[in-house]
Amino acid sequence: MSGTLRKGSTCPICAKAKLVPIVYGLPGMELRRDSEMGLVSLGGCVVTGNDPELECLSCEAKFMRDGEWVLISER
Ligand SMILES: [Zn+2]
Repeated sequence: MSGTLRKGSTCPICAKAKLVPIVYGLPGMELRRDSEMGLVSLGGCVVTGNDPELECLSCEAKFMRDGEWVLISER
């Protein structure tokens, strides 16, 4: 995978939805609301140091930046 992805980019996998940032840690009320509105994805509290930064809300593809963007498939 090459090219640049950023939040708001159209998902290169399904082209149906935009990518949203994945936020880690315990979400506050604002983050929960943003999540419900589809603005962010909540990544949970467990951070491994190898965590994807962007997620597609349609196909659930996750992307991590490791020099270039890498697709992380969890399905
Ligand atoms: Zn997608």
